Amino acid sequence: MTARRSADDLDFTEAELSRYSRHILLAEVGAVGQARLRAARVLIVGAGGLGAPLGLYLAAAGVGTIGVLDHDRLELSNLQRQVAHSTDRIGQPKVESLAATLRALNPEVTVETHERRLDAAAALELFPRYDLICDGTDNFPTRFLIGDACHLLGKPLVSAAVLRFEGQLSLFASHLGPPHPCHRCLHPEPPPPGLVPSCSEAGVLGAVTGVMGTLQATEALKWILGIGESLSGRLILWDALDARFRTVRLKRDPACALCGEGATIRDLSAHR
Ligand code: ZN
Repeated sequence: MTARRSADDLDFTEAELSRYSRHILLAEVGAVGQARLRAARVLIVGAGGLGAPLGLYLAAAGVGTIGVLDHDRLELSNLQRQVAHSTDRIGQPKVESLAATLRALNPEVTVETHERRLDAAAALELFPRYDLICDGTDNFPTRFLIGDACHLLGKPLVSAAVLRFEGQLSLFASHLGPPHPCHRCLHPEPPPPGLVPSCSEAGVLGAVTGVMGTLQATEALKWILGIGESLSGRLILWDALDARFRTVRLKRDPACALCGEGATIRDLSAHR
């Protein structure tokens, strides 16, 4: 791990001032916000269709330290949507491919690679090192592990999902207490295996992952900067075929097994 720059450190090089000039022009960002981004540590879980635009925009924005966790190697069938990789890297670990792209885009940022499967031990070891976790994974057991770990470890979570022509996005900050809901207030338990198909079974329009990953990056940047209205307590649903966005309210469930008063989930022992 590299030393974290302080968010109070407003000392920028000429190159940084030039690179981030369109951010610094924004009253809501400015040099103070840019210093916050440089001090931030964000973990991207999944270097795939969501992780690619997420990584690109977080790196371009100057998020000082970006962790990338994935255990897969790049396959030809990934490239229809995972646009931060390239054909000549097929067979390479995805974390290395994404890290190479992000470092080339912005050498000012530090990219930490974690080539491993996310299990409870990995979450307990890695999540505390980051300020914010972004879930770009594609299966329910991993999504529930990430959601539980973020609540128990006190980390905000920006969670996106895609399937076919549809996308979903929310931000969970249930560790801050009411009124912020957790992921289990929305879905108490994972669906039975096989009920909800995956992208590898049902397909996905590549550009849909690009939109959702970019929205996810935007929410992560807003959270770090402390600007605007966060998505905590709201879920965005996008149907690309209808070209319609809907926003639904999410309420904290007082009986929730994770964040409710009588919570029964107190550790990650239920996760492999
Ligand atoms: Zn809850």
